[in-house]
Amino acid sequence: MTKNYLKLQFYSLPRNQAFARDAVAAFCLELNPSLSALSDVKTAVSEAVTNCTVHAYRGGSGLVTVECEIEDATLHIKISDEGKGIADVDQAVQPFFTSAPSDERSGMGFTIMQTFMDEFKVDSRQGEGTVVYMSKSFNAEVENV
Ligand code: ATP
Ligand code: MG
Repeated sequence: MTKNYLKLQFYSLPRNQAFARDAVAAFCLELNPSLSALSDVKTAVSEAVTNCTVHAYRGGSGLVTVECEIEDATLHIKISDEGKGIADVDQAVQPFFTSAPSDERSGMGFTIMQTFMDEFKVDSRQGEGTVVYMSKSFNAEVENV
């Protein structure tokens, strides 16, 4: 299969979350995903984009960039912001860790991304922004059994 690439850039407005999630899902249709794999990708993208809105640009708005690449049967996703960054990434990715308990956040966004995708990594610098890398392999024979 040939490579394919998509880049989306939008303001961190809550109403763009569904758009980003659905655009990535539509992009990966060429990999013939199962409904469950597609739903995993949509959930992971939603969590990452929501984090840009509620944490990175809290109280304001800024640009979110979503890049996707298809390479063979694998979808690679990179979601970046130029917001406030994360002081301690190891702590932030722990299940139930949230810096916003008063907003009734459960601290499960990163855990969901990690669980639903095959690969997951976060790079962040305080004051500069955050990049989340995720990938998922779609093996049609296995996925569609
Ligand atoms: P939930 O996702 O369950 O609503 P949450 O957003 O707090 O709660 P995670 O998504 O796991 O939980 O994120 C954990 C913490 O990492 C956040 O509370 C926040 O402090 C930090 N964080 C996550 N994404 C970003 C980001 N893009 N920019 C700055 N901080 C972030
Ligand atoms: Mg979250």
